[in-house]
Amino acid sequence: MHEKDVLISGAGIAGPAMAHWLSRAGYRPTIVERAAAPRPGGQTVDVRGAARTVVERMGLLDAVKAIRVEERGIAFVDTHGRRRAEMSADAFGGEGIVAEIEVLRGDLAELLHDATRETTEYLFDDAITGIEQNDDGVTVRFGRAPERRFALVIGADGLHSGVRTLAFGPEERFVRPLGCISAYFTVPNRYRLDGWFEMYNAPGTMVALRPDRDPATVKALLGMRTPAGGVDRRDQEAVRALLAGTFTGAGWVADQVIADMQTSSDVFWEELGQAEMDSWSTGRVVLLGDAAWCPSPISGLGTSAALVGAYVLAGELARAGGDHQAAFAAYETVLRPYIKETQQLPPGGVDGFVPASRLMIALRLQTTRWMTRWPLRNVVAKEFTKAEAITLPDYTISAAPVTRPAP
Ligand SMILES: Cc1cc2nc3c(=O)[nH]c(=O)nc-3n(C[C@H](O)[C@H](O)[C@H](O)COP(=O)(O)OP(=O)(O)OC[C@H]3O[C@@H](n4cnc5c(N)ncnc54)[C@H](O)[C@@H]3O)c2cc1C
Repeated sequence: MHEKDVLISGAGIAGPAMAHWLSRAGYRPTIVERAAAPRPGGQTVDVRGAARTVVERMGLLDAVKAIRVEERGIAFVDTHGRRRAEMSADAFGGEGIVAEIEVLRGDLAELLHDATRETTEYLFDDAITGIEQNDDGVTVRFGRAPERRFALVIGADGLHSGVRTLAFGPEERFVRPLGCISAYFTVPNRYRLDGWFEMYNAPGTMVALRPDRDPATVKALLGMRTPAGGVDRRDQEAVRALLAGTFTGAGWVADQVIADMQTSSDVFWEELGQAEMDSWSTGRVVLLGDAAWCPSPISGLGTSAALVGAYVLAGELARAGGDHQAAFAAYETVLRPYIKETQQLPPGGVDGFVPASRLMIALRLQTTRWMTRWPLRNVVAKEFTKAEAITLPDYTISAAPVTRPAP
């Protein structure tokens, strides 16, 4: 084992961002990803506040801007498609509900993969099945690849992290379900969005359409309360049937969206939850991104937090010069106050996402109209400064790619 060999589980956003910085700090990152390639799908995600600075320091700001989706703002519509309330993208200086930099989550994952493929070993279509650590390193077993030893293991494998289960314990101890389900997929563009993110609510459900980079398609988003009996994550057919049963007849464009879902190739759905852990590391194993602190898509800060977290973890490892214990402790000290902010859901929380009653829907429309005016404007503006709630340390990591050190 080389003392600079680091294994990262997950090629989402946090994993490749971490590999980017590690290779520049002289480490030799390997990423194992369960899927056969970087996973496409998902909607636009925001790169806000400190995360924008991190992307700039990664030397990728222009590349990210080049793939951004232009959104003019968010509009809440009624069942006839009439706009009842709206907030333009520039209402809070590009940091409102729709941010200045909105990119498709799949595009960002692909961009980060492309930026790291020369300096990172990628093992696709595989997963960690066993972790045993001692003072010198970590022995890792894989589903397909042969057993190997690494100096450190980083779990960047999302809300349902396999590394967290293996090294810290069962998911139920760390994940708090938020009681709602969301589904994302691409559908043909039959709609006149005109660059707007349009959202419709009926009690307990939400249907939204967002512009895509490809003008021939749009991104559909469905949200609903989790049914009393729960859902089996692995049963894709049951989930599609649940969505079809819930949204058919829900109003606005729901019927058409459900019809298009049947042939969409990128349906991704999840039960929303937040991860909460007293410590993000145990020995030589450390968690990053949604695996450690998932704030949930309702926060709008999951991707930003993953990018900022990778920067801080890699920076502290570089600063500690090989003392991983000191690095992991500093990582938590620097990052925790920011993560705490990202986990505070916007006012209304889940009710703002899928209001339960007509009264709640009316209230949300009214508050949206008031949001850009005094005095609510000041309260709301504070909400959008969370993305800045960290002073990024200056780590002495080279901005240029470094050749992978020889074994
Ligand atoms: C397909 C997809 C679509 C998404 N769409 C949205 C969206 O529209 N809006 C939004 O706000 N958030 C979305 N998210 C979540 C968002 O990407 C994260 O909240 C945020 O970017 C933090 O990223 P992460 O890298 O920590 O986690 P993720 O982006 O979830 O990445 C985790 C990666 O780990 C992989 N993985 C999982 N388990 C294992 C395992 N046992 N072994 C190896 N690899 C594993 C996954 O396949 C995935 O590639 C989506 C996530 C995915 C995977």
